[in-house]
Amino acid sequence: MTALPLVFDAPRRARPPRHLADLDPAELRAAVVELGLPAFRADQLARQYFGRLESDVQAMTDLPAAVRAAAGPALLPALLAEVRSLTTDADTTRKTLWRLHDGALVESVAMRYPAAGDARERVTVCVSSQAGCGMACPFCATGQAGLTRNLSTGEIVEQVRAAARVAADGALGGGPRRLSNVVFMGMGEPLANYPRVVAALRRLIDTPPAGLGLSRRSITVSTVGLVPAIRQLAAERLDVTLAVSLHAPDDELRNTLVPVNNRWPVGEVLAAADAYAAQTGRRYSVEYAMIRDVNDQPERADLLGDLLAPRLAHVNLIPLNPTPGSQWDASAKPVEREFVRRLRVRGVPVTVRDTRGRDIDGACGQLAASG
Ligand code: SAH
Repeated sequence: MTALPLVFDAPRRARPPRHLADLDPAELRAAVVELGLPAFRADQLARQYFGRLESDVQAMTDLPAAVRAAAGPALLPALLAEVRSLTTDADTTRKTLWRLHDGALVESVAMRYPAAGDARERVTVCVSSQAGCGMACPFCATGQAGLTRNLSTGEIVEQVRAAARVAADGALGGGPRRLSNVVFMGMGEPLANYPRVVAALRRLIDTPPAGLGLSRRSITVSTVGLVPAIRQLAAERLDVTLAVSLHAPDDELRNTLVPVNNRWPVGEVLAAADAYAAQTGRRYSVEYAMIRDVNDQPERADLLGDLLAPRLAHVNLIPLNPTPGSQWDASAKPVEREFVRRLRVRGVPVTVRDTRGRDIDGACGQLAASG
């Protein structure tokens, strides 16, 4: 086949180079054989990458130099270049800005939560699934700039591997740690990048050498409520935790806060989430940013409580984080407490999310990836 003149490709962004993390075990073996290497090298490469969190082929010293020379550029290209990392909260929170091969920028945030009460220590990474976001929620910094592009599976998995490595190196404080949780709550709408996110989930769940071997329930996919995609995700039987960004119990307000509500209203979103929960047997979370005088009235708390009381749902209130140019503020603490009380009276479990990373613009809704 003759190659098309380059000019026809110009309007499209060049795809990220293929990476080992894009491939399932069978595809990886095929790719290795294509390079003229014996198939068992696939296993060795994958063990290094997923098992030892190694992405630098030169450090894979159990592989002969010739294998490293062939496999490095073909299967382990550098997908993420670290532009900078900022740490805060006594070094337990680290936000990293990454530049992708085409110059697009994304952020991820790694957080260590020391053990508290009967909760065990957790090390969580919040990853981006898209550069930018097309959902246009007016209170979210990522939503303001629009969508640049979908991330590849490899670009998503690499954010997780890099965070796991940082934790293993002890850089989140407290000594070497294992990454325990992944939340798809960074930039982008994960279910708008469906096939690549699902493939990334498989790489995170599968046990080494096929993947990182994380537990399904410690992975959370957060969505604005793309109903057909929620139903499709249920059918994949991945059994990861689902979070729905609701932010209002009524369509009138939600239409303005989460514009996609005009397409899939509250009732349809919750019905899809219910179906998801029925399948996994576990609660989903409902995310609710507390925005002063916008969605924090006692009547809305009651409405939300009545809506969720019969459901297998848990509410996660997020004090609104400041974003540039926004006219909105977080709710006052007494208002937040009253909101929580009204939900609890109705038997709805509620937690209030911490504002981790806020001073480095690394908290929910603040990721904007300006270079
Ligand atoms: N697009 C997905 C994934 C992003 S998750 C989703 O919307 O679910 C990021 C979470 O932070 C979402 O619940 C989002 O609504 C919330 N959020 C966005 N901007 C925020 C802000 N300024 N303060 C607090 N939470 C915010």
